[in-house]
Amino acid sequence: MKFIVVTGGVMSGLGKGITAASIGRLLVDLGYRVVPIKIDPYINIDAGTMNPFQHGEVYVLKDGTEVDLDLGHYERFIGIELTGEHNITTGKIYRRVIEKERRGDYLGQTVQIIPHVTDEIKSWIREVSKKKDAEICLIEIGGTVGDIESMPFLEAIRQMRIEEREEDFLLVHVTLIPLDAGGEQKTKPTQHSVKELRELGLYPDVIVGRCKEKLRESTKRKISLFCDVEVEAVISNEDCDIYEVPLKFREEGLDKVILSKLKLEKRRESKDWEEFVKRMKELREEISIAIVGKYVDVKDAYISIREALKHAGVAVGCRVNCVWIDSEKLENQSFNLEYDGILIPGGFGKRGAEGKIRAINYARTRDIPFLGICFGFQLAVVEFARNVCNLDANSAEMGKGGHCVIDILPEQRNIKELGGTMRLGEIEVTIKPGTLIHKLYGAEKIRERHRHRYEVNPDYIELLESKGLVFSGYSDNGRRMESLEIPTHRFFLATQFHPEFKSRPLAPSPPFVGFVRSALEFKKSKKC
Ligand code: GLN
Repeated sequence: MKFIVVTGGVMSGLGKGITAASIGRLLVDLGYRVVPIKIDPYINIDAGTMNPFQHGEVYVLKDGTEVDLDLGHYERFIGIELTGEHNITTGKIYRRVIEKERRGDYLGQTVQIIPHVTDEIKSWIREVSKKKDAEICLIEIGGTVGDIESMPFLEAIRQMRIEEREEDFLLVHVTLIPLDAGGEQKTKPTQHSVKELRELGLYPDVIVGRCKEKLRESTKRKISLFCDVEVEAVISNEDCDIYEVPLKFREEGLDKVILSKLKLEKRRESKDWEEFVKRMKELREEISIAIVGKYVDVKDAYISIREALKHAGVAVGCRVNCVWIDSEKLENQSFNLEYDGILIPGGFGKRGAEGKIRAINYARTRDIPFLGICFGFQLAVVEFARNVCNLDANSAEMGKGGHCVIDILPEQRNIKELGGTMRLGEIEVTIKPGTLIHKLYGAEKIRERHRHRYEVNPDYIELLESKGLVFSGYSDNGRRMESLEIPTHRFFLATQFHPEFKSRPLAPSPPFVGFVRSALEFKKSKKC
């Protein structure tokens, strides 16, 4: 087993996750089985309770674990499906150690960070790599070198490096190379952060320098000299589209450096990724999609949706320009949403919900392509119930009473503890033949990921369907509605599940492909 560890210095937000994911892609393209592990040094057990305003999107894995959005990059770049074990947090490690201590497993010893916590970290990494049959385990350590929280993890990595053979271990350090006022590429922050790493007993084999522009040869030589890495192992990572990073790394010779340090052979050469990037860069057409949500100011809050639109765009042949619209701003004033499509993503709570309902009404009544996801699906039901069925309709989550067409299922209404009632992870959905969604997936059984608490209230299904709303997918033997559509509309589709989590550059998600295709056709029809 080989281990590649990715650490970061200077500051957070350098794109360590993209670096790690891109290394994963390079290795997959060379023919290796790669298993990524993300270490988040925070004390939370998982990202489920974390606020998107602070952390960006909560990504959901197939087993229902709620994780950091970097795991999404891993799945998209490496093309695999991960589970909760691929995400280690301080909370999870300490919970294990404390459980062992309570069971008496430590036989009366004093339980300490070294060796007990570090042992737990090492055995977690090794167990997962073995269980998942990895050839190469790729470990990204969240945070920046020098943070108190990441110390036990870096110490565990230091020990692993000694325990493993030289050719089985590689450390990649990602740093920032800022430009000064005169445009000079400054290496001092990199030197300092490598020094900090060395003080912890860790020595980088590769340095990836994030910079606005390509690193100059002189910059690379300087880093090589001061940081004690070979000049070929100083890799330039200039600003570019995330999907280009693996290709840029290859141009920089990172694949060769990794193969030679780990004493591995190139097994094959795959061009799929390159072709995807080529198609992406050659796109000429462009469509604009309005995304109406609550967290639109946080760049990363809807990252999987943005990426799914991009994947679908490449498949259909157009660039997708996302226009982010704050749902609260649509509440008390008139507005114009004349875009090629309108998308309502998932969300929680009553704030901004009325604005989303107005945006859905706009799309439905003006025949604008519409895709609703999770909360967007639920509010599409509310909109239809209000404006077509003439009910004083709401979702129970909005706290307004009236006809709760979206509610907790009757059998769950007495459960007081909200945390335990979230429906998470991949669940099988049955699709009704002959519907739009059936055409898109080309299957009657699909598996998609979920993250929700409320459902279409079964008491209203008959009424809604009698007025022209079609529930085209369901689960749980028909107890839960999973998708809806309006056959008389150009493209009106909403899903209770989150198709964005399974979209990959090389395997775009069917609802997104259908939506983007319809938006492109709509745009063209407007021109005629
Ligand atoms: N708030 C809604 C629910 O809990 C929808 C959740 C979501 O959009 N992810 O059911």
